Amino acid sequence: MAKKQTDVIKIPVKEFRYEACRIIPQKEYSITEQPFYRPIENEVDDALAAYLDGKSVLLLGPTGTGKNRLVEYLNWRANKLLREQGDKTVIPLYKLVGNEDILTSELVSRGSLQKAVEEGILESCVREGGIFYFDEIFQARDELRTIVHEVTDNRGRMLSDPRQELVFRPGRTFGFFAAGNPMYLGPDQAMNRATMDRFFTIWMNYPPEPAEIEIVLKEGQVNEEIASALVKLAGETRKLKGSYGLREGASTRALVEAAQLYAQGMPLPRAVKGRIINTLTHDQGDLAKIQKALRDDSLKVPPIIFGEGNGQK
Ligand code: ADP
Repeated sequence: MAKKQTDVIKIPVKEFRYEACRIIPQKEYSITEQPFYRPIENEVDDALAAYLDGKSVLLLGPTGTGKNRLVEYLNWRANKLLREQGDKTVIPLYKLVGNEDILTSELVSRGSLQKAVEEGILESCVREGGIFYFDEIFQARDELRTIVHEVTDNRGRMLSDPRQELVFRPGRTFGFFAAGNPMYLGPDQAMNRATMDRFFTIWMNYPPEPAEIEIVLKEGQVNEEIASALVKLAGETRKLKGSYGLREGASTRALVEAAQLYAQGMPLPRAVKGRIINTLTHDQGDLAKIQKALRDDSLKVPPIIFGEGNGQK
């Protein structure tokens, strides 16, 4: 029977209960359940090999292409390797998103002028033998790169506050992963060659169609027809890059979340508009042109995306 499209979203009302935040101490935050990660090329094996060999890894590419998820997956794999050797210790995952406000002293205590030296987040990750994920690294202040430089030095070496007279030699499980989207580099944001040269670098691009369909199917809980229509739409938005002020097309993340909303009962055109199309630009004029272009017959956007055709789950 055809699904009746109504205005009612199928949020399971009975299960909706008040819930406050759960707080997990950073040292205990670790990925212990297997996350879904669909390998695209050899990135899992390569990143894992680099990590096990004490190399730092840089993930480059557009937003929503699985960089975060890959690091979470690697955290889980590393925990699994320990378990297989009879060690139940979990390797904590530290995440930091780069921006102008983060100070050097927040990463390592060096540079702090207080008497009681507070431990920086990178320093505690090194001490705990954790995996550090520095997202949006290009958005961080230049000074922070000095520390990156040190910690990515041959198997890691980090200087602490000189008054502590300590040098950290990270243990085997410490890993340094950085990620960034070079598309939005400001004039002074490029990493210098010497720092860039310390990473095993992987480009994370949009997955090829069959892989992206698999991801949307699995993460979005929709059927193949919907998953494939969403992926086709994404492909067309990516082709528009360079026109209408578009620097990037729709991300895999956006497709997954639109699919999830649809699976909850939101009509597909509304899920697509709110979660994919409207997020492409904040210029309404450009947005109207993008919408018009996507409806153009020469593009291959399946009619189901616009509420035409069948659209059953
Ligand atoms: P990024 O860190 O590159 O911005 P994320 O890792 O947060 O992207 O990915 C966004 C979402 O896209 C994930 O939550 C997941 O649903 C989906 N995704 C993207 N690539 C993959 C992949 N290769 N395997 C599984 N899920 C993926």
